[in-house]
Amino acid sequence: MSDIPTVTLPSGISVPALGLGTWQMGEDARKAGIEIESLKRGLDLGLTLIDTAEMYGEGGAEKITAEAIAGRRDEVFLVSKIYPWNASRKGVVDACERSLDRLKTDRLDLYLLHWRGEHPLTETVAGFEELRRAGKIGAWGVSNFDLDDMQELMEVPDGGMCAANQVLYNLSRRGIEYDLLPWCQERGIPVMAYSPIEQGRLARSGELIRIAKAYQATPAQVALAFLLERDGVIAIPKSANPDRVAENAEAVDLDLSEADWTALDAAFPPPSRKAPLEMI
Ligand code: NAP
Repeated sequence: MSDIPTVTLPSGISVPALGLGTWQMGEDARKAGIEIESLKRGLDLGLTLIDTAEMYGEGGAEKITAEAIAGRRDEVFLVSKIYPWNASRKGVVDACERSLDRLKTDRLDLYLLHWRGEHPLTETVAGFEELRRAGKIGAWGVSNFDLDDMQELMEVPDGGMCAANQVLYNLSRRGIEYDLLPWCQERGIPVMAYSPIEQGRLARSGELIRIAKAYQATPAQVALAFLLERDGVIAIPKSANPDRVAENAEAVDLDLSEADWTALDAAFPPPSRKAPLEMI
């Protein structure tokens, strides 16, 4: 397998363009073993970016992540997210401490506002910047921010320090290609594509099954190859199955023909007008 391609953050740090999601992990103690094994398998294969959140399993996914990264924290680019209702200036600092406890680490590499809520962005950003200065987080960013939200963020003191925007993006959800994606690319703000396999649905797409067959690949790999082709995009598929994690990692070796890219555009057309950002 080739090396995992990388994306460069505004700070100059390079992170893998393919990482590991953790939503729906840490919810059932009987599945903890296989979830930890899946994340460890991903790390072994170079998928060293892990995306978690205080929301996932109400802290359970962060605890699973702690087990998976035990003894190898320095290999990992660790991302977590804060609930919007915790994102007051002081609330940001307190929620981060709780996440650090669950993750059994002293720092996050990237801390995201999970979606916009009632707290003013000025306060949230001030809390993030306090954490950054204290070395508790390497960088901060946002999630589920549409273009107008990003533009508003840029007007807030230190808003320009935003290091990523994590949004719904996959072949069947291409709306951001109209405006948000090019805007982020122009500014060097990576887009983290969540639900890159459309929560498993793209793995059952007839068109993707057809294209994948010609390469002895799988439909999930085609869905991931579509994202890996794009500049400044980091895909974070989730799997609690170590073999599927390996399958997803091997998407980096898939090299589609021009004819197949055209077929994908026909089956999943790019946007021709602005539509509000979708969320899952
Ligand atoms: P996803 O990664 O598109 O799909 C996950 C689903 O696909 C799971 O059911 C998984 O099942 C299945 N799957 C994974 N690999 C597969 C393969 N090779 N073949 C067939 N099925 C496969 O969806 P997601 O979990 O919603 O999104 C990924 C991550 O993005 C999340 O885990 C989370 O970290 C993040 N996220 C963020 C937000 C946000 O608001 N910021 C929202 C949603 C998600 P198995 O586990 O059984 O393999």
